[in-house]
Amino acid sequence: MKAMFCTYCKSLTVPGQERCRICGKILDDAAESNQSSLMGFESARPVTKLVIKENPEAPYMPYEFREGQLEIINDIRAALDQKRHIVMESGTGTGKTIVSLAAGLEHAKKTGKKIIYLTRTISQSDQVMKELKAISNIKQVSGITITGRNKSCPLFNNNEEYDHVLPNVLSMLCDDKKVKSLRNSSGGCRYFDKTKGAIDQIEDYCRKSFPKSEELDKYCEDLGACPYEAKKILMKNFDVIVAPYIHILSEDIRTNFLTNLGGEDVPILLIVDEAHNLIDAAREQESFIISMQMIDSAIDECSALIKPELYDGVIIDDFIKHLKLVVRQMAIKNIPLGKSEYKLPVGSIEAPMMTKFDMNRSELNMAINKMIDLGENRMDALIDNNEQGISNIYVLGIALKNWMMSEDDRYVRSIKTKDDGEYLSAACIDPSDIVKFMQGLSGAVHMSGTLQPLEQYYKVMGLPKNTLARTYPSPFPKENRSVVYVDDVTTKYDVMNADPSMSSRIEKKIAKLCNSVEKNTLVFFPSYKMMKGMRPFLERDIDRDLYWEEGGQTKKTMRSLEIFRKSPDGVFFCVMGGSVAEGMDFPGDELCFAIIVGIQFPPPSLELKAMVDMFDSRYGQGMGWKYMNEVPAMRKIRQAIGRLIRTETDRGMAVILDSRVSRYQRQLEATLSDDPVRDVVQFFVDERKS
Ligand code: SF4
Repeated sequence: MKAMFCTYCKSLTVPGQERCRICGKILDDAAESNQSSLMGFESARPVTKLVIKENPEAPYMPYEFREGQLEIINDIRAALDQKRHIVMESGTGTGKTIVSLAAGLEHAKKTGKKIIYLTRTISQSDQVMKELKAISNIKQVSGITITGRNKSCPLFNNNEEYDHVLPNVLSMLCDDKKVKSLRNSSGGCRYFDKTKGAIDQIEDYCRKSFPKSEELDKYCEDLGACPYEAKKILMKNFDVIVAPYIHILSEDIRTNFLTNLGGEDVPILLIVDEAHNLIDAAREQESFIISMQMIDSAIDECSALIKPELYDGVIIDDFIKHLKLVVRQMAIKNIPLGKSEYKLPVGSIEAPMMTKFDMNRSELNMAINKMIDLGENRMDALIDNNEQGISNIYVLGIALKNWMMSEDDRYVRSIKTKDDGEYLSAACIDPSDIVKFMQGLSGAVHMSGTLQPLEQYYKVMGLPKNTLARTYPSPFPKENRSVVYVDDVTTKYDVMNADPSMSSRIEKKIAKLCNSVEKNTLVFFPSYKMMKGMRPFLERDIDRDLYWEEGGQTKKTMRSLEIFRKSPDGVFFCVMGGSVAEGMDFPGDELCFAIIVGIQFPPPSLELKAMVDMFDSRYGQGMGWKYMNEVPAMRKIRQAIGRLIRTETDRGMAVILDSRVSRYQRQLEATLSDDPVRDVVQFFVDERKS
């Protein structure tokens, strides 16, 4: 007799049916009859067993140990107790979140530290809350998730107009509303008014329910309170504060965040999840651009002002218009046809501005500061009139101020072009602020599934010499995963250019592989351009339901992904390093097969070259190439392969289409295949037998 619940989607089945009416999977006698499966798909994943009483070896571990977990907890605990940082790569299934919390809480409770758990995505922060809830079964513990105003303010978060507004501008808008609320004047914030009165109820809810980020926001909104303000007030009362990277990476946000936590002297324990992203995120945080659109918008806004002076007879309109001219001329003169960037020599924007307006450098700085003041006044006036409160003059003024401060070795300053015009770019290559902050901590946990080579991370982050570096393998059976590569194609730029048949040979291989097995398959491309170029042929040649990651259209991509997850044998095409390739789980049959098209080395750029040179000079010839090209490219492939196996029962196979993998065979644990179609078919035949 067929069982009551589908093993795949866990929906209730009708007796006598051959296939599940929800997901279409063939029902078999092994299907589960399990009440917990009524809870939804999540519970279809193998659940780690909860312990019923405290384990003296790791009092904050709420589950029975999996292989290797106690060793990791011991290492983290020892490192923290000795005030050392620990940098660790731990494979799928080691339970990074729970082991870091179990060890971290034990240390933090002893030392009175607050844990700041940094995550990159909302789903990672939700996972932390889930684990804290599990811990609360055996130990008293509390946690809260923090998000920025743009995510949790009920007035701003559903309004597209505020999507790209700088955090400090949102903060000004919010402050203004709060002041009006406190004065009982019009234009205040109704959510702010109710927050204090609801705070005890919100705290109680957090302590009992360990809500996910969205759940907490909704709970506050339903009470008519401001989630952002509530979290700000409450965070100092909680053991674990789960926050996005930006709360530590941005100096301004960090200062406010730590103040809300009780001041800079409050002892903290930092846990960085997916730490391999932290260095790039820190560089991005300190980088910025000044676009033509920013300049044009500021010029437009000047028409609403009565020609104010910035400095001794220099009218704001003339100043910004001349800036536009300087940027344009710089681009015309220095970026030849076919190129898109030019590294700016020192002072190349500042000098013509100073000459035109007969100023020295400090007078130029004063003019820019005046511009910021004018922008602030204008925002105040707009807010008073209940109009949209963003001043483009202010935004440009802040960017110019940052530009003036970016003239040092840590930045590559350049002029670039793209479809919508020229822009100035100040790309940070050496994020010193975060390095300084890390150096000031007495121990922290930095972890990821793909952090090797560990020495690159701790060197670039400037961590102390006594940092503990550890690698922990996945406890899942090795035979559940197979990775092969081929040596007759490559996506290497020069080779593809010289051999016009290469593209169609790759396309044919992808089509054959996709048609060879009826399993959910992800195909990873090295770029949107290549994926777009091959799309018409793949749509013609592949006999399966096809789904695509759409660049810049997250909602559309997520909708396709949801349908793909439920399909038994669809093919989803995405880009390596994109939102699908990293950070998403595909348990069970949601993903069985991955095709990785080529190696995605970072595209050449002025910044990349500067970083290669910087690391060569710091760590020796060749290290720049290794750290900036090879390491990120291999990490992306390992992340893509990592999507295959998320639980101990998952099985999956990956085929990498690039001959250059022969150099990285060991790192990727890949073997050469002369017939990948045969190997893939065989792998899944063996699965049926086992
Ligand atoms: Fe938004 Fe809260 Fe500020 Fe009101 S108090 S504007 S709801 S963040």
